[in-house]
Amino acid sequence: MQARLETMPACRNCGGRLCKGETKCFTCEAPVNEQKSNREVNMGRLRVGLTIAFFVCLGLTIASIFMDVGPSFVKCAAATVILHFVKESAVQMSEPKGS
Ligand SMILES: [Zn+2]
Repeated sequence: MQARLETMPACRNCGGRLCKGETKCFTCEAPVNEQKSNREVNMGRLRVGLTIAFFVCLGLTIASIFMDVGPSFVKCAAATVILHFVKESAVQMSEPKGS
């Protein structure tokens, strides 16, 4: 299986291993532009996933008010609040820092 290799980036020029966040190849100094875009894609997926999870939790919270099925309202509300903060921090992480 080669699935593990995707988490370990390699230089396209010389095949050398790259550290996470490396912008240049350690061995041949070829620029590694893909790393940043990969990270951005992952961040984008994370944000989408968190947004979906947030709305699912929000829906469950509302549903739990009217129905006795599923998790209790307090649990759903707590999960919604936690997801909201995780989502916000993920958004902040993915945006460039600037003042
Ligand atoms: Zn290289």
